Amino acid sequence: MSVYVDRQNWDWKAAPGNVKRKPQACPRCNNQVQYFLAYDGDGWGFPGIWTFKMKQHYAFKCPICPNFEPLAKEEAKLLLQRST
Ligand SMILES: [Zn+2]
Repeated sequence: MSVYVDRQNWDWKAAPGNVKRKPQACPRCNNQVQYFLAYDGDGWGFPGIWTFKMKQHYAFKCPICPNFEPLAKEEAKLLLQRST
């Protein structure tokens, strides 16, 4: 986790499809929350055309605090496909 902290200022945006996890207690803010699928970086092309560039990062993000759990691009892609 510490590897990611100083890398950059994350700018998470909610991924399309409203992909959420089951409710869980956030280990950082202790709230009962649903982590949602978010992405950082460019790579989103024209609407409807999914582009997945190397610079892009995915994670499940806490809606309340800055905590997030990195997610492999392949996994994120699968989740996004399933939600449409
Ligand atoms: Zn939290």
